[in-house]
Amino acid sequence: MLRDRFGRVATDLRISLTDLCSLRCTYCMPAEGLAWLTKTQRLSDDEFVRLASLFVSLGVESIRLTGGEPLVHPTLPDVVARLAALQPRPELSLTTNGVTLDRFARKLVDAGLDRINVSVDTLDRARFAELTRRDRLPSVLAGVAAAADAGLAPVKINSVLVRGSNLDEAPELLGWALREGYHLRFIEHMPLDADHTWSRDEMVTADEILAVLEGAGYAVRPHGQRMHAPAEEFDVLDGPQRDAWATTVGRLGIIASVTRPFCRECDRLRLTADGQLRTCLFARTETDLRGPLRAGASDAALAELIVDAVAEKQSGHGIGSAGFVQPERTMSAIGG
Ligand code: SAM
Repeated sequence: MLRDRFGRVATDLRISLTDLCSLRCTYCMPAEGLAWLTKTQRLSDDEFVRLASLFVSLGVESIRLTGGEPLVHPTLPDVVARLAALQPRPELSLTTNGVTLDRFARKLVDAGLDRINVSVDTLDRARFAELTRRDRLPSVLAGVAAAADAGLAPVKINSVLVRGSNLDEAPELLGWALREGYHLRFIEHMPLDADHTWSRDEMVTADEILAVLEGAGYAVRPHGQRMHAPAEEFDVLDGPQRDAWATTVGRLGIIASVTRPFCRECDRLRLTADGQLRTCLFARTETDLRGPLRAGASDAALAELIVDAVAEKQSGHGIGSAGFVQPERTMSAIGG
């Protein structure tokens, strides 16, 4: 079991298959991209699968493939199939920008993918092109529909709201998700941007998102306990919140990592595309698994490195504390 000194047990692993991405979201990376890893620096599929298998043997129950953009990884369906063959079989999910998803959704389901999250920050084509620096909204929407058709329902939609850009679109995004049967989750912008321009005063908070939705006529009510899930869930009602008879017409999630942190419940670990284990998105240290793996370390030796790293997991991300320093790696280089 992967237990840290605060008693938290890690059961969820996020694997960044590649740091490459097909979009250039303004709040994530610069127009020219980042200093990409070389092919040799990135783990091979065999290395990803060997490490994943070790994590599963240590108690990991769910694996999310992410990036960068995981659909850019040339052998993604094959990786999914190999992970689905692990025993005990982990639950497998994917976080993607959806750009080429319409071509891959069916193959991924056939390979064993269980769940999917697609990032859609706007439904306006011109705004999408501006925000992502690529004119790909039609492909993304086709990808979302293809995922639902392939049986990945309910498709989860991730949206980051940015002041002066798409904040006004929160009600429209929610309306679209409710109509189509998708599960929308708004994510607070975190200090993991390449430009280091994030500011607490400028970021859109969960409170503000709820106020914007309320202002547009939506009533929401907290839905049960959050448990280990990063998103706080809300029922969207068909009448005012105060009306006891209002019934639920859908769900909404808000991932408020900054203003409503859930570090005490965190059960996550992250493996970067170059084989570094991170026990927190905001960790300032990493544990190198690629070096020992390539030097011929046994499974037992690698397991010991993992167990020791998890034991030292920091208590919380510390955003807002005086000593907080943004990590070197950006969200896309860690694996969001
Ligand atoms: N390319 C895939 C995608 O777009 O979903 C996977 C990687 S991307 C880094 C994962 C998620 O992180 C996306 O929903 C993206 O909007 C979000 N993201 C990127 N930078 C972020 C930041 N600084 N704070 C919060 N979310 C961020």
